[in-house]
Amino acid sequence: MYQAPRGTQDILPDEQPYWNYVKSNARQVAHLYGYGAIETPIFEDTQLFLRSVGETSDIVQKEMYTFLDKGENSLTLRPEGTAPIGRAYLEHGLSNQPQPVKLYTIGPFFRYDRPQAGRYRELHQFSYEAIGEIDPALDAEIIAMSWDYLTRLGLRELSIQLNSIGCPICRPHYVEALREYYRGKVAELCLDCQTRLERNPLRLLDCKNRACNAVAESAPRSIDYLGEECSGHFQRLEELLHSLAIPYQINNRLVRGLDYYTKTVFEVYSTETGSQSSLGGGGRYDGLIEQLGGRPTPAVGFAAGLERTILNLKKQGITPPSRPGVVAFVASLGDGTEVAVSRLVAQLRAADIAALQSFGRRSLKSQLKHAHASGARFTLILGPDELATGRVVLRDMEKSTQEAVDQSTVVELLLKGVRGPTPNP
Ligand code: AMP
Repeated sequence: MYQAPRGTQDILPDEQPYWNYVKSNARQVAHLYGYGAIETPIFEDTQLFLRSVGETSDIVQKEMYTFLDKGENSLTLRPEGTAPIGRAYLEHGLSNQPQPVKLYTIGPFFRYDRPQAGRYRELHQFSYEAIGEIDPALDAEIIAMSWDYLTRLGLRELSIQLNSIGCPICRPHYVEALREYYRGKVAELCLDCQTRLERNPLRLLDCKNRACNAVAESAPRSIDYLGEECSGHFQRLEELLHSLAIPYQINNRLVRGLDYYTKTVFEVYSTETGSQSSLGGGGRYDGLIEQLGGRPTPAVGFAAGLERTILNLKKQGITPPSRPGVVAFVASLGDGTEVAVSRLVAQLRAADIAALQSFGRRSLKSQLKHAHASGARFTLILGPDELATGRVVLRDMEKSTQEAVDQSTVVELLLKGVRGPTPNP
């Protein structure tokens, strides 16, 4: 028997209400904040990710699905959405439009990660990017939008964690201070961190290893090393978040895994006991567009994991509003009714009534069982007698009552039943 590849999952019809709920909320929030939809290819030139995400990042080091196509081109299934959107921004001359250009996308991403609860190899994200503006008000808007996306779904017990990791001018001083601090403590670090120390010391701060964690507690803080511009930016962002009543905490150890971040970085966590999972993260990436071959262009973005969002909805007992399911089921009582059944079903669908029909030859009992299982509110039963008289038996599945009615009145009766009684004027 074949199985879905490790770290991927089928999303069956029962799960779809959650996905529809989360995606339609994402689209609604994007609309409210003025973000336009963009869809980029599922795979890109491998170089795009090597040059942007960073050679030393976990994504590039161990998580990319990279392959040669038949033309010997190295392609990579997109592990994240920012670099592809940056590429599209440059390729389509979006820098000529009024800035910032605000774009969002919803779709699958691929990372060769270690699968576990909430961690997949095919994951889905709602990600949004605002390109072409340095104003901290845009950082505040992106954070507010993330908050809105999660809280409009009804999620509670969330915490926004915020930090600033500076820019290429001030960060080297901080990185040197970090190296200095860690050099005396190499023996206490895990093997990974020992090799990260020279390549990418920021990552030592968010290592999950207990010993590294303890060492990181007293490590120098990036906000103490910010230059004047970065420090002013961060201060203004904090003022704006306060004025918007967006709750957040400063987390001095938040660095984010990708190389392109500058200044603001933030992440949203669930604070429920037993769950420290990140629902989404983002930040400013003022150097990325230039790194991809464009003019220096500041930008900021965020990505929320849809699987994580849904896991948290379930944990908190939040059920998505369900669409009305099948409303009518047409059952058949014997030979000669097939054509009439198909016509009746077509007539219902033409009137926007969702309708299912019975196939093959089954007992009425078995058809009613099927009707129940499909969630039908009404069953219409057609037999030879009904055919002869132009009538049909209309069964109310909730009340278990039934009556024979004229076929020509069925649509009207069902619509009334579905919409409920008309209120008295
Ligand atoms: P990142 O792009 O790494 O900043 O991740 C943004 C969000 O995507 C995270 O906060 C998670 O909610 C989600 N995410 C990242 N990696 C995975 C994964 N392997 N499986 C499921 N969700 C993920």
